Amino acid sequence: MSNILTIIACFVFAFHLNAQTNSAYPQHDFVNPMAGKMEIIGTFCELRPNHFHGGLDIRTGGEIGRPILAIADGFVSRINISSIGYGKALYITHKNGFTSVYAHLSDFPPEIKWYIEKNQYKLQKWEVELYPEVDLLQVKQGQLVAYSGNTGGSQGPHLHFEIRETKTEAPVNPLLFGLKMNDFMAPNISNVYLYSYDTLAKRNNGHFPSDGLQLYTTQIIKVKKKKKKILVPISEQRLAFGKYAFGANIKDFATSAGDNNGVNYLQVYRDGELIYDCKIEQFLFSQMRMHNNYIDYRRQKEGGIKMHKLFIDEGNTLPFYKTSKTNGWFVINDTIKHEFKIVAKDVYGNTSYKIVNIRGSATGRKISDYIAYNKNHMHCKASIDNTYTIGDKFKFTLAKNTLYGDYKLQFYKNYGENYTIGNDMVPIDKRMDVSFKLREDQMRLSSKFVICNVYGKAYGTKYNNGWVTAGVKEFGTFYLTLDTIRPSISAVVLNRRGYFAFHINDNLSGIGDFDFYIDDTWVLLDYESKASLLFGTVPQPISAGKHIVRLVVYDERNNQRTFTKEITVL
Ligand SMILES: [Zn+2]
Repeated sequence: MSNILTIIACFVFAFHLNAQTNSAYPQHDFVNPMAGKMEIIGTFCELRPNHFHGGLDIRTGGEIGRPILAIADGFVSRINISSIGYGKALYITHKNGFTSVYAHLSDFPPEIKWYIEKNQYKLQKWEVELYPEVDLLQVKQGQLVAYSGNTGGSQGPHLHFEIRETKTEAPVNPLLFGLKMNDFMAPNISNVYLYSYDTLAKRNNGHFPSDGLQLYTTQIIKVKKKKKKILVPISEQRLAFGKYAFGANIKDFATSAGDNNGVNYLQVYRDGELIYDCKIEQFLFSQMRMHNNYIDYRRQKEGGIKMHKLFIDEGNTLPFYKTSKTNGWFVINDTIKHEFKIVAKDVYGNTSYKIVNIRGSATGRKISDYIAYNKNHMHCKASIDNTYTIGDKFKFTLAKNTLYGDYKLQFYKNYGENYTIGNDMVPIDKRMDVSFKLREDQMRLSSKFVICNVYGKAYGTKYNNGWVTAGVKEFGTFYLTLDTIRPSISAVVLNRRGYFAFHINDNLSGIGDFDFYIDDTWVLLDYESKASLLFGTVPQPISAGKHIVRLVVYDERNNQRTFTKEITVL
């Protein structure tokens, strides 16, 4: 009986092919950025919190310090050293119009390291963004350019690797350039959702009503006189007449069932006719947050469900869709059984699909939502800049195209000085300015305010003419608070053969900057924000005798803590 299960679970055709050959991209210019087998643990455009993944994550065997190699001749065009995001990152510009990006690095070979440190000393800053001259750091294909690491926003050692079109900086799926990779497993479509085209609900709630579809039912059968439960597909869904579209949870695997990769090709057919065709091959950096429009943002916020909407929602301008007559929507207006086929394909052509049969019926299931609407709701238009005020102490500005559509949003003052803007189930595309007016007695501390949301997230502010303003990328409930507390410093190692290490922490606004001096000479330290650690070895041995060691740490609101200690070198 287990074959029945296999047959119905998912129809899978697995191939081991070269990536879809796409003449738009050169197929023989690049080699892999690491020696040996390249295992992908994160794919291009994978759905990540608030953004599409811009490249590939490549396994480094849990190690830091694996050699990273230039994928082609070129020159180092940019180096970023940051405590967040890409951490330590290197960019190489190639002759063929593409730039390769290597991120979360731990270190660099001497000539590149020398260039970075020279600039860090010149600027007296660890965090730097450098654009070397074209002929300064030329590299050859296969040349060692960095060592892998776990810096910045990385949650474990790996290489984050991207290929971008140099001119537009648009990230392109690196697997479209003929790189050799093992991927012989097809994606899995686990859950299918149905959306109804209820424009009133969309305007009032910010999303179309949706619900999960039950595709299988359990049946008890007898096997050798024993009762056994099996899953059988539901032959058809009876739906009320109306206009619908699909959504689906999809996971892709490369070589093992433990993989959790994204999928790049999605299609929906109605009775054999293609009604939705999505090819995720590149996008613009400015469209990074449109991820929140592409996915079902509400279900992500409510239950952490990563769902591909299989329709082009209002305000979605992503370049994933060539032709789509109906944007993925379909109408059920008869009582004939229609066959829908949802197809998911990875870049190597491994394909799987799910069949959903739908029949219209006057008594069929309705997909609807409670429409939350009261007098606090205000009709906000996406196409214009608008500033909204609540009382005389709070205002916010939604610039043009911050909203993906025209929605009814609520804003109100809560008990205390908390203000709620909109509906945190509704995504926005750009920062909105959120502003609080200071009272006369608050003015002297105008630079020390932060704006927080109810989850404790702090946004840095700017002061102007009585108001403090923060750029905020999500709706929610906000309040104003002060950060006058200095960061903390504790010395971990003081001069073990020229090595120093400190723990630094801040309570609210976060670490802004730090300066380390030995006898008033600035000395470079490395910063690992995840471990709250500042550490490093002085470039020259410290001479014998007494020396003053001084570390100054600032938070984002410029509260400053100084640690000073006299050390004796024998
Ligand atoms: Zn990554």
